[in-house]
Amino acid sequence: MKSKGDRRYQELFESLNDAVYIVDVKTLQFTFLNNAVEKLTGYKKSEFLSMKVSDLIPPEYSSVVREMIQKKLEGQSKSTIYEVELKRKNGSRVPVEISSLARFDNGVPVEFLGIARDITERRLAQQQRDVMVSLVTHEIKNPLTTIVGFLDLLKKRLKTDKTARSYLLTIIDQTDSINTVMNDFLDVSQMRLGKLKIHLNSVDLDKLIKEVVKPFKIIRIVEIKGQIEGQIIADPDRIRQVLVNLLTNAMKYSLPDHPIAITLSKTHNQIRVEVTDLGQGISEGDQSHIFDLFVRGKNQSENLIKGHGLGLYVCKQIIKLHKGKIGVKSEIGKGSTFFFTLPIHK
Ligand code: ADP
Repeated sequence: MKSKGDRRYQELFESLNDAVYIVDVKTLQFTFLNNAVEKLTGYKKSEFLSMKVSDLIPPEYSSVVREMIQKKLEGQSKSTIYEVELKRKNGSRVPVEISSLARFDNGVPVEFLGIARDITERRLAQQQRDVMVSLVTHEIKNPLTTIVGFLDLLKKRLKTDKTARSYLLTIIDQTDSINTVMNDFLDVSQMRLGKLKIHLNSVDLDKLIKEVVKPFKIIRIVEIKGQIEGQIIADPDRIRQVLVNLLTNAMKYSLPDHPIAITLSKTHNQIRVEVTDLGQGISEGDQSHIFDLFVRGKNQSENLIKGHGLGLYVCKQIIKLHKGKIGVKSEIGKGSTFFFTLPIHK
């Protein structure tokens, strides 16, 4: 017989809007569900009891779910919060935020306790925001491109008046900053709407890197170590963008007399590019977040160095679209190595 306490908890679970579930670690079958799961998925509770977690997860999300299960089982994290979509009984999809933890008995994992929250509204609001940012940045981008063009023409004409030229150079510098941020914003909004496409082409990466490095070499020692040799398949403009971002950061976050190194290597199925600086470095805690949108490291808490926390997010999405990997190894006070890999298509 259930105690009064148990009944109260049961009533509480049943009255929740969020779906609450318990899954057996060994069988990955559901052993407890509240009423909200029926509304969320369209399945009856009774149907659920013969189902497994995998029956609800679309194939493209199965690796995320597996990774999260593993994390909890190995004790890497006690609980996990992540977003996936669930397959409903009628074939439609519903986006959910899953908060779940593993319960251990004498050190042995026995069940996962979880809450699934419908985030359709949140996604919609996010999408509306992204569409708005995309529209606004588009509207600003066109006149800005005209301004940049005319400023360049003016610079060529204003050769003799030194004061006017110095004013103009300041305006150009500031306009360049706005232009860079606008481009990043535009990319971010396109990425978040899933609209950013890459145009794959045959690329001579050694040549592309030499071109990218040229303007940086005027103000800093940049050494290129190793070679890729031969063509790879990638979007040259987007890879250029990633390299410019990583090199700009390496310069921004190290001192003017610190050299920067680019190291290139290749295995049978991928190429790897590393950008190493000897600058301030990034704490371990920050390393896992700096690729997220609008995140700046704690080293920037006083905002001494200009930035918006957009660049690495953009790089990550571009590399993801290429099915490559991006990451960082860093030590405070010693410097950082940012790397990305790209698969070699046969
Ligand atoms: P921003 O540089 O505009 O802040 P990014 O997305 O390019 O944005 O970088 C995010 C954060 O990562 C930075 O704010 C900084 O804290 C950290 N970071 C990036 N590159 C480096 C680097 N080479 N050395 C130290 N910190 C870096």
